[in-house]
Amino acid sequence: MSRYTAESRDRVFDAVDMIALVNSRTDLRRAGVNSYFGLCPFHDERTGSFHVRPEEKHYHCFGCQSSGDPFTFVMETEGLDFKGAMEMLADRFGVTLETEGEDPRAAARRQQRERLFALLRRATEYYSRYLWAAREAADARDYLRGRGLSEETLREFRVGYAPSAWDRILTASRRAGFSEQELLEVGLAQRSRSRPGSVYDRFRGQIMFPAADRRGRVRGFGARRMREDQRVAKYVNTTDGTLYHKRNVLFGIDLARREAARVGGMLLVEGYTDVLALHQAGMRNVVGIMGTSLTEEQVNELQRLVGVLELCLDADSAGQEAMLRAATLTAGRDIELRVVGLPEGSDPAELVAQEGVDRLRERVRASVPFVSFNVDWILSRADTSSAEGRDRALVELAPMIRALGGSMLHDELLRRIASRLELSFAQVARLAADASAPVAGARSGSAAGPTNGHAPEAAPGAAAGAAQRSERLFLALCIAVPTAGEATLADVDLEAVLTSEPLRAAGRHLRGRTASPLADLPGDDELLARTIADLVARAGRVPDPSPDRLQYNRLRLELDRLERAIMRARVTGEGSSELARERNGVLEAYHAVGARLDTTI
Ligand code: ZN
Repeated sequence: MSRYTAESRDRVFDAVDMIALVNSRTDLRRAGVNSYFGLCPFHDERTGSFHVRPEEKHYHCFGCQSSGDPFTFVMETEGLDFKGAMEMLADRFGVTLETEGEDPRAAARRQQRERLFALLRRATEYYSRYLWAAREAADARDYLRGRGLSEETLREFRVGYAPSAWDRILTASRRAGFSEQELLEVGLAQRSRSRPGSVYDRFRGQIMFPAADRRGRVRGFGARRMREDQRVAKYVNTTDGTLYHKRNVLFGIDLARREAARVGGMLLVEGYTDVLALHQAGMRNVVGIMGTSLTEEQVNELQRLVGVLELCLDADSAGQEAMLRAATLTAGRDIELRVVGLPEGSDPAELVAQEGVDRLRERVRASVPFVSFNVDWILSRADTSSAEGRDRALVELAPMIRALGGSMLHDELLRRIASRLELSFAQVARLAADASAPVAGARSGSAAGPTNGHAPEAAPGAAAGAAQRSERLFLALCIAVPTAGEATLADVDLEAVLTSEPLRAAGRHLRGRTASPLADLPGDDELLARTIADLVARAGRVPDPSPDRLQYNRLRLELDRLERAIMRARVTGEGSSELARERNGVLEAYHAVGARLDTTI
């Protein structure tokens, strides 16, 4: 791997305007001679602890102690390595980089690559001008507008239109000094089969979506045909070559990267217009994976940037298979995979048009961990009518469940599996654990505070330790301590703290009825009746019911709710500092109540 010369590095450093660079991330105010300050881009804060000294090109945060120079700043904020940061700064501040000890052949190759990039850039500009000016592109303009895309968005993504003539790009590029060979190499031209020796434009009469790399350099195109009678597939891509590799392409990465690095998450969609529509609606951390399945190369690129991938793919079976593949690719990596639920047969662009972007953000916020999506997927295909079918499903599910250890999700999924396979929670827990000897201690790790009592319940088939921490316990406590329960239920946001609909319904029913929970049960809602009966039974078994215990349990649910909200906020790009503050407040109260409980027992 070649390195840039130290002299190149110095020239980049000299060329950087530190204030302009930092200002693109946070607003700086002057603090004195050669000194500016503002809100730290690296940690959440309300008062500015982040100081910049433009002459030294140095920054330092008194809050989180981050400090460095323009290179570290770009590495941190853009998720780039040193080389990438240097290239980005060189692009931005107009410095030409030179490579260390480059032999003449390597230098020639690099220059040749730069020529190819230039050729593609010219073609991109040509297609774009053609889209906006040509009469024959009117249908394409109508089509794109019909998808709700504004000219501003289309220009930002450099969308264009390829003329239907056979040789426009060929002629224009030759005139600009490019050879036939170069046109073939970047995939803009192809050889004629019927007339050997002659070449013609590869793309004709198609909408052109440039596929840029993370530095914004166009490497190829995705093309959509405009007429049904065209003898090409509806979508075609540049064929793989010197610069373009389909497996590497993340459509929109150059425009999405910054926001994704800031919020720590990236939304993955399938189509070009999905990417455009979401960016237009203000969701900037969105890229297209150019095909249904995520590749290893794409995951590598994304992993350098974010910790969470939100899959927002079609609900059809191709989309489902794609998600399964994505999971095997990310397994064992330090990246969290989540699935955004979409109504069947809809794509994100349509949803934004129909429901607005806020609703889509809500859907993203309600995304589920991949494992939970996968459990549902396996259950939906399982033959639950036979014992063998249930066994097969369990065998398939067991490794996933075991991998979750004693987390909350683990318990939730066990409950779901139990209900679907008509087994008891304890049976499923045992079967899932049996298939391999569990690592000692794996079950105890998550004790949440004093006396939160993971003491196993003797009742067979009961949701043993899990229920103690769960939402069921909370509702049971509301019944066990009816007066405090009444006040708590009036105050709590059931939709937010309870994660399953049957329990929310039970909570709504219990409002105003904690002293007589079985009253007024509607005759036609068997699920509600069973849930309430179960809660009443649990209420009778709660050890030491007290307002404090209820309060303690309620705070536990609030903490879980805030954790979920913080995770979502990180992904959707809304600030999480407000939530984090709220969580700290709740946590304090939680510990205070926990301490009280400790001394009374
Ligand atoms: Zn800081």
